[in-house]
Amino acid sequence: MERLPDKQRKPVAAGVVAGGAVVAITVAVTVWLLGTFVGLPSANDAATTTKCFSQQAGLEKAAWAYEAEQGMPPGSLADLEAFAPAPACPSGGTYSVSWSEAGPLVTCTEHGSRQEAQR
Ligand SMILES: [Zn+2]
Repeated sequence: MERLPDKQRKPVAAGVVAGGAVVAITVAVTVWLLGTFVGLPSANDAATTTKCFSQQAGLEKAAWAYEAEQGMPPGSLADLEAFAPAPACPSGGTYSVSWSEAGPLVTCTEHGSRQEAQR
């Protein structure tokens, strides 16, 4: 095998270094783009969770109103319809209400309970 003169080897080495830099930049941009777009749904989740919890608070108020007027806690979400129209969870979850010594506990199948999230 004939050894290549230095003049012919240098451009090849420079090309490899430049190629490596391009790959590094491409990887960095890709990671940045992924972070940007993957980050969006989680921000959206935070917004829908906030809205869902705010609706849970409304349902809790309705449950308190029901208990005050009827003298007993609501048995189900349907009992609260006269006090507050059943809101729809922004993520399509289903609400349910239970009652304990502490009062009403509203739970969403998608977001869980606002009260438990605050503990
Ligand atoms: Zn929800």
